[in-house]
Amino acid sequence: EKQITHMALHDALTGLPNRILLEDRIKISIRRASRTLQKVGVCFIDLDHFKSYNDHYGHLAGDEALKGVSKVLKTNIRGADRLYRYGGEEFLVLLPQISIDGAKIAAAKMIEKVKDANFLHCKSPCQIITISAGACSFSCDDGVTSWKDMIKRADVRLYKAKEGGRNRVVSED
Ligand code: GH3
Ligand code: MG
Ligand code: MG
Repeated sequence: EKQITHMALHDALTGLPNRILLEDRIKISIRRASRTLQKVGVCFIDLDHFKSYNDHYGHLAGDEALKGVSKVLKTNIRGADRLYRYGGEEFLVLLPQISIDGAKIAAAKMIEKVKDANFLHCKSPCQIITISAGACSFSCDDGVTSWKDMIKRADVRLYKAKEGGRNRVVSED
C-alpha cells in the first residue's frame, strides 16, 4: 500500500515528485513565506528542441536523456530546494528563502551543469541538450494571491527565454 502511495506521488521515469506533491508543497511554501515575510523562488525549466531529439534518436533514448537531465538538476540544487517533474520535458524547482538574484543564479547554475553533462543532440544548434528557464521570487507583498500566479509568472519568463534564443534564464518581465 505504501508502494502504491509512492507511485501516485512520484513520476515513474525520473523518480521525482510529481505535480500533486508540487501543489501541496507550493501552497505550504506560500503560507510560510507570508507568515515569516520571507521570499519563495520558483524556477520553471524546459528542455530545448526536445521534439527533434525524440524524432532523431527515438523515444527510448529520449526517456534516457530526460532521466539524465533530471539527475543533473537534482544534484545541482541546494538541500532545501525541491525539484519536481511538472510534465513532459518540464521541471519545476521550488527554492525557499531566495531573492530574485539568487533564483537567477540557481537557474544559471543548472543551465551550465546540463551543458557540462554534454548529452549529444545533433539536431540542436548547440549540438548538445540544453535547457531554458524562467525564474521568479515572491514575497507576500508581491500581490501574488495563489500558487497558480507564481507558476504563471515563471512560465511567461520561460517563454521569453525560449524566444530569446534558448539555453538561458530570464528572471524579469
Ligand atoms: P522548445 O525548445 O521550444 O521547448 O522545443 P521542444 O521541441 O522541446 O518543444 P515541444 O513542446 O515541441 O516538444 C516537447 C517534446 O518532449 C515532445 C515530446 O514527445 C517530448 N516528451 C515529453 N515527455 C516525454 C517523455 O516522457 N519521454 C520522451 N522520450 N519524450 C517526451
Ligand atoms: Mg515543453
Ligand atoms: Mg521543450
